[in-house]
Amino acid sequence: MTVTIEKPEATETNVLDDARTQLAQAVEVLGLGPEVHAMLAAPRREVSVSIPLRRDDGSVEVLRGYRVQHNYSRGPGKGGVRFDARVDLDEVRALAMWMTWKCALLDVPYGGAKGGVRVDPRGYSKAELERITRRYTSEIAPLIGPNQDIPAPDVGTDEQTMAWMMDTYSVGRGHTVLGVVTGKPISVGGSLGRAGSTSRGVVAVAVEALRHVGIAPEGATAAVQGFGKVGRGAARFLAQEGVRVLAVSDVNGAVHTADGLDIAALEAYVDVTGSVVDFPGGAPIQSEEVLTADVDLLVPAAVEGVIHTGNAGQVRARVVAEGANGPVTTAADEVLSANGVLVVPDILANAGGVVVSYFEWVQANQSYWWSEAEVDERLVERMIRAWNDVLAYATANQLSLRLAATCMAVERVYRAHEVRGLYP
Ligand code: GLU
Repeated sequence: MTVTIEKPEATETNVLDDARTQLAQAVEVLGLGPEVHAMLAAPRREVSVSIPLRRDDGSVEVLRGYRVQHNYSRGPGKGGVRFDARVDLDEVRALAMWMTWKCALLDVPYGGAKGGVRVDPRGYSKAELERITRRYTSEIAPLIGPNQDIPAPDVGTDEQTMAWMMDTYSVGRGHTVLGVVTGKPISVGGSLGRAGSTSRGVVAVAVEALRHVGIAPEGATAAVQGFGKVGRGAARFLAQEGVRVLAVSDVNGAVHTADGLDIAALEAYVDVTGSVVDFPGGAPIQSEEVLTADVDLLVPAAVEGVIHTGNAGQVRARVVAEGANGPVTTAADEVLSANGVLVVPDILANAGGVVVSYFEWVQANQSYWWSEAEVDERLVERMIRAWNDVLAYATANQLSLRLAATCMAVERVYRAHEVRGLYP
């Protein structure tokens, strides 16, 4: 049986409102003027494309895709491409803005961008997904490139999608362009360590956050919502740190045990069945219960808006590390803060993916490849440095970690604007 995660009430669903509110708060703290605010709020470029798809049965269906470049003052646009039935322009705008802040916060030389196709990939064959990807890439090709805008995987896309994107773009240029996308398979210029990078980064900062609130990671407890590109690796790396993962969920259901799940066994089970549902090493629970489980650490690693005013009051974790982009709504942020829950914001917690995307792009542009140990070491070093910087800024200015992180990022982007000047 498919359990759909319930959407919060309408007033909280617009992630763009949340992203804009966060920017407005940072602008106020930083004392920036209304003109600067207006420039930072407006995406630099947006494209909406039609994707006619010939289905395997011969019929034709027309899908809609987007690419939004929020800002490129600090470098080329950077950000994932999402295949999801909920994709719309406002969501892509919000996600693009968050990419700008994420790249600035981690000090990788990119602006922010995001793309998406409004489609549920689970309802399409591999051949159909290839046709969707290639047509979408062709439509946005004038906008992307290793020095312009560099897509990567996100919800519903993976390294195969990136291989098709890279190939389609390269065929159009007449030569292979490895640096046009990141998150590629190793065989075509991907980086060692990219696949687990977001999860590794989430765990690196989550462990620091636990220590910060006085909880030793060894023996601490956690719940992970989502068992995909981010959640699965997060559960694995948490277990490696000695954290007991008591509950996990995916789109189909959830599983719980009081002692801690055997993550290696769960991964082997998911490889065979495709889902965590009915894993014999735990008891089934409702997906929603994962978010309110009695644990020290909660890692929402699925989609945005899952912690809202309807359930924020029941969150029992002491630390929430945002593996997904935007899983906690602005209104829920206030409830969590009032209840003493420390939220490690997405632009910090899940930045490991784009950090290793940057490493991949550097390697691809130089045709010189690093070892996995080198990638991991540089990633963790950057994540911990960013954690320490955000914590110091938050403490010095009496701000939440989210507002501190956003202020630091907005200030860096503003400085780039300022020094470049307004042209013409
Ligand atoms: N989609 C990931 C994110 O939201 C990775 C983006 C990238 O590597 O460009 O951060």
